[in-house]
Amino acid sequence: MSTAAPPLATPEQLELYEPVIGLEVHVQLGARTKIFCGCLNEFGASPNTNVCPVCLGMPGALPVLNRAAVELGIRAALALHCEVRRHSVFARKNYFYPDLPKGYQISQYDQPLAENGWVEIQTPAGPKRIGVHRLHLEDDAGKSSHEGYRDSDRFSYVDLNRTGSPLAEIVSEPGLRSPDEAYQYLTELKLAMQFAGVSSCDMEKGNLRCDANVSVRRRGVPEFGTKVEIKNLNSFRFLRQALIFEISRQVALLESGGRVAQETRLYDPDLDETLSMRSKEEAHDYRYFPEPDLLPLEVGGEWLESIRASMPAMPEELRRRFTGEYGLREYDAQVLTASRELADYFEAVVKACGDARAAAHWVTGDLAALLNGQSLDIALCPVPPERLGELITLVQKGELTGKLAKEILPKMFESRESARAIMEREGLRAMSDAGELERIIDQVIAANPKQLEQYRGGKTSVMQFFVGQVMKATRGQANPAAVSELLRRKLS
Ligand code: ADP
Ligand code: ZN
Ligand code: MG
Repeated sequence: MSTAAPPLATPEQLELYEPVIGLEVHVQLGARTKIFCGCLNEFGASPNTNVCPVCLGMPGALPVLNRAAVELGIRAALALHCEVRRHSVFARKNYFYPDLPKGYQISQYDQPLAENGWVEIQTPAGPKRIGVHRLHLEDDAGKSSHEGYRDSDRFSYVDLNRTGSPLAEIVSEPGLRSPDEAYQYLTELKLAMQFAGVSSCDMEKGNLRCDANVSVRRRGVPEFGTKVEIKNLNSFRFLRQALIFEISRQVALLESGGRVAQETRLYDPDLDETLSMRSKEEAHDYRYFPEPDLLPLEVGGEWLESIRASMPAMPEELRRRFTGEYGLREYDAQVLTASRELADYFEAVVKACGDARAAAHWVTGDLAALLNGQSLDIALCPVPPERLGELITLVQKGELTGKLAKEILPKMFESRESARAIMEREGLRAMSDAGELERIIDQVIAANPKQLEQYRGGKTSVMQFFVGQVMKATRGQANPAAVSELLRRKLS
């Protein structure tokens, strides 16, 4: 067998082609128990402890659909703007694998839970909606380990704890046109799942998994080329790298007169290559048929509407509000919607102080730095949003200068006290008494005759020196703008 890397396309050759990509994403639903039995749906338990006759596929054991898992599936569908079908049907997908004890997966085939949604991504040409073709429910398989054990050269191990975990499979339309768009689609999808409280989407724990379908076509050609499915993409970075490689491989193949074979390939991150795994199976290979042990799933209108009513605003909606109504920069809107907790926190600060720009400034600036410094998530922030709002209000009202507020926030972070409590304890407040400020300025001028002479001699840069001295004498409590103004009058 040749181990030589396949030829890659030149940049000129790549220019001639357009990639076409569609993703199939598996999201493990964060239900407490599995989809068809009462076993715990948890990560990290000792192997083969969360199992029962149902998920082990014992003859005669019957599945019972977990309502909580269906509800999470519906939330996932609504988060992706899908139409939820009132009537959907479970189907057996038959195949053999050591980590699939039943000998079939219970999935949905021609009547999935939901269809026709979209995910919005940002492209250089503006926002673009990528169609979500369908979302269906299914049970997960177990996990085979082929390495990591002392005797891995002779044995493989199977852990069936994951067998029967609830999954939503989300299939996109082939609407993605570059590895970067695919990366963004997956990022937005993950964010939507997190906002909707469907899944933590932790790729390391395997509760977000992605297969990529990719083909290339000459620019201007309307028909799609033959697609290849890439498996084993267990990080966002690998998704991008695998697509970059695979696009190049396909273009080089076509340019040298070859044809792309419809197949399933595996991404190898060490080689940064995709390797042929098997020729692609067709749907009829799975001998799908309606699951005889489960009734069709009927989603009642009232239930659906109550779930819809409990959905939070999705990230793209929040971003539109933040840039539109609040006048924030696109970048800040992006940062502030990085998680639902952060977006909620920010909104609570805005509510408390009524100034969205100031709130964005503090949340993405000083507060973010303090959180980063202690590797804290916003959910564990020791400063509640109402208190940050109060701090901002104190600046707005002139009771604190920006400089003082910057000093107080870390203290609030440490002591969990309010800004007012710290101000009172430490005697910190903006100097509102104009008479007192004037007195201090007079003292500073009198104490620095040389600088005064320089200033009057035309060296206006000495102004900075005087402002610094006054700020020092007032322990930062004076408003710098007021100081400059007063100084300018007194010095000339
Ligand atoms: P299959 O029946 O082979 O599984 P599907 O029609 O179910 O194919 O599509 C699977 C995934 O492949 C979807 O995400 C779809 O968007 C994507 N896809 C379909 N055709 C192409 C193509 N020619 N190039 C790239 N992706 C494609
Ligand atoms: Zn079980
Ligand atoms: Mg398919």
